[in-house]
Amino acid sequence: MSQYLSSKYQGLEPYVPGEQPKMAQLIKLNTNESPWPPAPGIAEAVRKEAEKLNLYSDPECTELRRVLADSLGLKPEELLITNGSDEILNFAFMAFCDQAHPAAFADITYGFYPVYAELYQIPCRIIPLREDFTLAPEDYRNLSGPAFIANPNAPTGLALKREKIREILESNPDQVIVVDEAYVDFGGESCIPLIREYGNLLVTRTFSKSRSLAGLRLGFGAGQESLIRDLKAMQYSTNPYNVDRLAQAAGVACMAEDAYNQEMVREVILTREWTADALKSMGFSVTESRANFLFVRHPDLPGDTLYRELRERSILIRHFSKERIQDWNRITVGSPEQMRKLTDSIREILEARKA
Ligand SMILES: *Cc1c(COP(=O)(O)O)cnc(C)c1O
Repeated sequence: MSQYLSSKYQGLEPYVPGEQPKMAQLIKLNTNESPWPPAPGIAEAVRKEAEKLNLYSDPECTELRRVLADSLGLKPEELLITNGSDEILNFAFMAFCDQAHPAAFADITYGFYPVYAELYQIPCRIIPLREDFTLAPEDYRNLSGPAFIANPNAPTGLALKREKIREILESNPDQVIVVDEAYVDFGGESCIPLIREYGNLLVTRTFSKSRSLAGLRLGFGAGQESLIRDLKAMQYSTNPYNVDRLAQAAGVACMAEDAYNQEMVREVILTREWTADALKSMGFSVTESRANFLFVRHPDLPGDTLYRELRERSILIRHFSKERIQDWNRITVGSPEQMRKLTDSIREILEARKA
């Protein structure tokens, strides 16, 4: 910290992304990236657009908004495209939270929510998940500020039915309810069909996971026009050109190849299910994940031990030191080959401990 940092940031604890080490032959199962390359048409679209990089990007993302709106059954005015979905979440914290409107979110959820709250010095209302990590809508009655709900949740993978979110929307007509659908394509139930009914609903999505484009930084928010206008004011007050030309062109090309993305998602779901079965047969508890990762715990193998032992074998998974989940690990669903190496390694680790 330099002597110049504003005193209001002295206590700030920035978000810690999963590590991106440069180990050879690394099997990287720690940041929920797709094991599959982006759709084949994207590289050419990006190459062509690169010739226009002397010109600023379209701050309205007109073309991408149009194709996205078509695919979602929404109007372009009901969408705001951002630099990853982290940015739309950032805008939501900026626009809708303040001292009188604390941010509500679960104790076990996406680690970025508390960071934004801290950055903007917004009070938090932490609402613990139930014993089995499920979220009970009745715990979200009478909120005094916006709620941020990852659905499916991370790192548990558990999903809430749309009707449960509806209960939360109904019981908080004066608060924005942000439903973070980063993982919805892997088996969740989207709340986008509720947008026309609820002016207080903001759904956020990303191209990072189910569309194999984490490195591109593309996400969006969907909500009623007035809500989107508020968020757009945040965009135009920080960085109007938040989505660069290459990302917009890649996004449009990606939407034209949705069949490819759906195929990759199907593959991940199949791999998730057999990996879950394999881990259960080795004695793991595995939550019912609707995402592209598994959340697992073994009775004889502490979470940090499994993390370390796998790291020695060049397999990287995620361990969180937070007390309530310190016995657990989050494992991204990779390719079938990667998951076979993972399950083989875990079998070895368990046998070596028995011996
Ligand atoms: C990955 C993730 C995001 C952010 O994704 P971007 O790469 O910024 O689009 C948002 N929410 C959750 C719950 C995530 O896991």
